[in-house]
Amino acid sequence: MTQKKVIVVGAGGAGLTAATEASMAGADVTVITKTSAGLGTCTAYGAGFFTVPVCGMSREEHFTKTLEVGKGINDPSLVRVLSDKSEDSLKRLAELGVKIEFTRGSANTRSTAPNELMGGAGFVGQLVEIAKRSNVKFIEWTVVTSLDLIKEKISGVSAVDWRTGKPLSLKADAVIIATGGGGQIYRRSDNPARMTGDGYSLAKRAGVELIDMEFVQFYPIGWAEPGLPVWLADTGLVDHVRITDDAGDEFFIRAIKEWGYKNGAEANLFARDRCSVLMAKKEEKGPVFAHLEDVHDEKWEDRGLQYSLTIDRRFFDHFRRPVRISPIEHYMSGGIKIDDECRTGISGLFACGEATGGVDGANRIGGNAFSNIVTFGIIAGRNAAGDAVWETKFHHEPIDRPPVVSSEKGTEPSILRAELQKAVWDLLGPLRNEKGILLAQEKIRDTEERALLINSPIEMLLALEMRGLTDTASAVADGAILRKHSLGTHFREEN
Ligand SMILES: Cc1cc2nc3c(=O)[nH]c(=O)nc-3n(C[C@H](O)[C@H](O)[C@H](O)COP(=O)(O)OP(=O)(O)OC[C@H]3O[C@@H](n4cnc5c(N)ncnc54)[C@H](O)[C@@H]3O)c2cc1C
Repeated sequence: MTQKKVIVVGAGGAGLTAATEASMAGADVTVITKTSAGLGTCTAYGAGFFTVPVCGMSREEHFTKTLEVGKGINDPSLVRVLSDKSEDSLKRLAELGVKIEFTRGSANTRSTAPNELMGGAGFVGQLVEIAKRSNVKFIEWTVVTSLDLIKEKISGVSAVDWRTGKPLSLKADAVIIATGGGGQIYRRSDNPARMTGDGYSLAKRAGVELIDMEFVQFYPIGWAEPGLPVWLADTGLVDHVRITDDAGDEFFIRAIKEWGYKNGAEANLFARDRCSVLMAKKEEKGPVFAHLEDVHDEKWEDRGLQYSLTIDRRFFDHFRRPVRISPIEHYMSGGIKIDDECRTGISGLFACGEATGGVDGANRIGGNAFSNIVTFGIIAGRNAAGDAVWETKFHHEPIDRPPVVSSEKGTEPSILRAELQKAVWDLLGPLRNEKGILLAQEKIRDTEERALLINSPIEMLLALEMRGLTDTASAVADGAILRKHSLGTHFREEN
């Protein structure tokens, strides 16, 4: 039997897990990534927490809770896979050498985290090492720009080395999209800069269905004080300091208790949707503050507080006073439609991780994304190494992906990106309405039509990412306009 060639697009938790499994199953595997493997990924920036049915939480409990938080529009067969297989998937990684600690209903890799900011960096570093030991090859600093098909079956990918502008064409029997999310469509996001929704765009333009794209998870609390990084703070911060409006009203903890949650930490797992909407509505009336002056000297050493600050406490030495906070984009629940074998509608094309939709439904349980990337990464990898042929069913006609060219009359991609991010934040953020969504669609179309001026390798990278950004933004807007009523993370002001 000839050895299968598998290309994995993306070197975060999902891509690296898939690559290792495919290689161990006998395939010749190459991972392509926009940066250095593992770095600049949401996995590296993640807090390192997995929600997983272990140590007293039953699989049934996990299944029921995931559907309840997702408002029941999740794909139940994908949730079933997650609930039934995440424990074994994590144990599989532990066998391969990943350091994981298990507690009730959760697991974490924080003992290998280099700092508070990058809870998943040690984890993803271990995954890179394991993949390399398993003979996985890497092509770094390269952007995959389209999926190639011959006779309705995947035949490889086209890509560009953004440092040189050199195009590449790579052949494969199977391709796995593991490109993560697209938080960079928003002005306020905790996602690293390379999270531009490329996988959604690649799949959509190849004729694959995207689902639930309107469900974007916002974190209720993000730092919004000049001088502090634009970054999330755990909702459990409210268990350590007062969070108030301008008049000093502790509206946030009051609402959390009224909704029946024990504290902010519990609301962080199950109610990021309601908490973000509450925060955004309050902010429309005036600024919201986290009262860091509440923290006395010895309390700065508290591990729970340090965790909820999410950035090194030394950052706060000059901020022992009320600081502005505001919601921040965090995660995309929607994405590429897959079945429980991680197959898409195109023969030979698989997808896993945040690039996919269906597991989370309308809102995600905190910690389920890390369990998802590992569980579905293993499935995608094993299947891609096997007989990756099935009947292609296009969801729609494939759409061309025009090449990126520089025009002297064009706009610098960084400027275009910032304009798009502002429009998407203002019009497709935590609070949405019909007029705003329609205006967003118009602005996205306008951005798509603008010519680009490229003068440096970084501008080449930013230009290559524009298609992912505009396609992702337009998928969010299209989903949002169709869903007239509020559900989960999609909040319509009219209904
Ligand atoms: C601050 C933060 C904290 C979080 N904490 C947690 C947590 O504790 N628990 C939890 O469950 N979830 C958490 N999440 C969510 C979770 O981190 C992500 O959903 C998950 O890590 C996504 O993994 P992934 O492998 O799908 O994508 P990523 O890890 O984001 O990797 C994507 C990869 O795709 C590559 N790529 C993208 N486009 C292309 C292209 N065109 N060509 C080549 N390569 C490409 C990128 O370079 C990158 O290597 C957190 C997210 C953030 C931002």
